[in-house]
Amino acid sequence: MVNESLPQYVWMTGSLRPWNEAMVHVSLLGHATVSGVFEGIRGYQDHRDGQVYLFRLREHMERLLESMKIVRMDHTFTVDGLCEGLVDLVRANGYRCDVNALVLAYYGGLTWSFAQPELHRPVEVAMRCRSINSRLLTDKGIRCCISTWTRISEADLPPRAKCVSNYHNGRLASMEAQLNGYDQALLLDHQGKVAEAPGACLFMVRKGTVVTPPTTSSILESITRATLIQLFAEQLGLTVQERALDRSELYIADELFLCGTAFEVTPIAEVDHYPVGKGEVGEITRRISQVYHDVVRGVDPRHPEWRTPVWSALSEGGHGAQAVF
Ligand code: PMP
Repeated sequence: MVNESLPQYVWMTGSLRPWNEAMVHVSLLGHATVSGVFEGIRGYQDHRDGQVYLFRLREHMERLLESMKIVRMDHTFTVDGLCEGLVDLVRANGYRCDVNALVLAYYGGLTWSFAQPELHRPVEVAMRCRSINSRLLTDKGIRCCISTWTRISEADLPPRAKCVSNYHNGRLASMEAQLNGYDQALLLDHQGKVAEAPGACLFMVRKGTVVTPPTTSSILESITRATLIQLFAEQLGLTVQERALDRSELYIADELFLCGTAFEVTPIAEVDHYPVGKGEVGEITRRISQVYHDVVRGVDPRHPEWRTPVWSALSEGGHGAQAVF
């Protein structure tokens, strides 16, 4: 059951603060946030014992530090300190359900101008989490269109950084898709090849082969994508082809699905009014969804290194713990 009330605590640069006291000054709006980088992380409850597992927590924090490096944020945060901070936060809020967390690194201090970016400003990290429902194992696909917007490229903004500014591109594409009656947009890259959806990567199944665009096709280096490539090989005996993907291949695909921390595994039922396969959730999509579901919840005990238990020794001592940086 999802608890709709606001969380009690937020984590701000090493300490837990009550939700209502977690403030920043209005002067931080705009200038500070264009360079902000973030992560979205999910936790899944193991329904058998109520344990909550943060999925691939370490990899998310590693990617956050990589994003910080790309946008030239100098800081002293560590992967261990950030992981511990999020575990503390989920515990402090008492969540024993599926959760999602947002981790945002941003420049503190005062900025007056976009024109003069300062290299050495104090960097802050804020984390918040809330309860959320999973839509894994859905039997309904979404309707997509190819966007008139093009996915940002290395020539514009680095696609592999989860920088807040990058997200305006996907935001425009999603809004356009929704206004035109679709659920979601798919973006092509500057070469006209399929890149990804706003906030999710794409997989195609055609004639029994699984294909996904490579990490050099202007996509985010998605943690779910990497997880699925590994699980396809290990559990379904399928080697995923990472190669450039044409738009017209989507129109004759047998199965398509999106993946990501937020999207989990989301089947696609049609693209530009072309039904995908029979327009139903395909067999391989169904199987990989089940595999992913079982791994994230710990029903399948393999890959314990991907699951950080919240309710265990990692942060014994509860939510008073102060991370040290
Ligand atoms: N692409 C973009 C642009 C994203 O923001 C996300 C979500 N982080 C993804 C793909 C999927 O990445 P992940 O599996 O790491 O959540």
